Amino acid sequence: MNDLTRGAALAPEQASAGMDAFWMPFTANRQFKAAPRLLARAEGMHYYTPEGRQVLDAQAGLWCVNAGHCRKPIVDAIAQAAASLDFAPTFQMGHPMAFELAERLVALAGKPFDHVFFCNSGSEAVDSALKIALAWHRLRGEGQRTRLIGRERGYHGVGFGGISVGGIVGNRKMFGPLLPGVDHLPATFNLKEQAFSRGQPQWGAHLADELERIIALHDASTIAAVIVEPVAGSAGVLVPPVGYLERLREITSKHGILLIFDEVITGFGRIGKPFGWQRFGVIPDLVTTAKGINSGTVPLGAVFAREGIYDAFMQGPQGAIELAHGYTYSAHPLACAAALATLDVYRDEGLLTRAAELETCWEDALHSLKDVRNVIDIRNIGLMGAVELAPRPGAPGARAYEAHVKAFFEEDLLVRYTGDIVALSPPLIVSREQIDRIAAGLRSVLERID
Ligand code: PMP
Repeated sequence: MNDLTRGAALAPEQASAGMDAFWMPFTANRQFKAAPRLLARAEGMHYYTPEGRQVLDAQAGLWCVNAGHCRKPIVDAIAQAAASLDFAPTFQMGHPMAFELAERLVALAGKPFDHVFFCNSGSEAVDSALKIALAWHRLRGEGQRTRLIGRERGYHGVGFGGISVGGIVGNRKMFGPLLPGVDHLPATFNLKEQAFSRGQPQWGAHLADELERIIALHDASTIAAVIVEPVAGSAGVLVPPVGYLERLREITSKHGILLIFDEVITGFGRIGKPFGWQRFGVIPDLVTTAKGINSGTVPLGAVFAREGIYDAFMQGPQGAIELAHGYTYSAHPLACAAALATLDVYRDEGLLTRAAELETCWEDALHSLKDVRNVIDIRNIGLMGAVELAPRPGAPGARAYEAHVKAFFEEDLLVRYTGDIVALSPPLIVSREQIDRIAAGLRSVLERID
């Protein structure tokens, strides 16, 4: 350990030394390393910089720290697991925490979900769900169902499956041809019809009917699954129009197509219920989760399967491996210990429904920014929100990006900044005062910079 990794108070010029070797993900490396922003420590709602400055976390780390930072019961559970069962394989072996966690998760989801497959991230959860969907159709004698349908502006991680069904152009175009046989629904977003909607926009349910068009084009018998985020997060919090998800469910059911909800962000209380599908009252066949499952403390992802899916895999000969898929770290003991402790914290503190209690306060705070210069839309649901800015002429999608990120950080506020959209998702322990502080910080920065 050096001073940097220990999180000691450092002068900024010391902090930027020794940073070249880390090839940073989704980062403008050269620009960042010239003027780094470092987070050395965290507690509750805050990060602390190496110099000891307190930064309010309005982004739950990266949409994941739902219980708040460094919560003692979670820290203790991880430490205990590290000291008592550092690793255990889950291929042809098992450890008790993995089974206990799966039972707890299935109980939390409730019917009709009855099995959980573990992986290490949202990207892996997506690839796992897509593979389960393809294999499930094959097992049932419908192996010609190979096509997948995603959605424009969808984010499903960075595996080849995920970027193929994903619809964020920048994440796809560097990598040449992706999975064949993939179509995309249109994004549900329309500024003209939906700007400043509070919660679900009224306009846009008909966009689900595009699915009928794609199905007619290829024939339903060739289509395996449709995957969408119930609320698109990374593209800038695109809330589904009233009736849209219901319509997707209706069409997929009619044609025997599996519906996958990618709940890597919306899972674990982000929009006021344990899972997003519960909030919308629309039951998918597979649900991908990660992030909030253990409050972002140790990498863990999970795919929830609706009843009947696991069972279809159990029809083959006894002794055969039913699903040739898994990861060395599937259900890692540290991740499971963290998740079990996190579920206790969620239960004991009522955090999985807290976003619903705070939703009006959150919505009012964000929409109070409507008069701020350059703000062209504000979107919200649960404890997710986005403030969209007018694109700078000539540079759409990259409005003074670095200057804005820097300005927010200097305001002691951590927000997610994607192009012209400020995305927000505070830990679920956020107070009403802190919500006001987030809105005030946004106003201050947005009025100051251009
Ligand atoms: N799906 C969704 C909906 C996500 O928001 C994310 C991450 N933001 C992912 C998948 C990928 O998760 P990970 O970064 O853990 O691979």
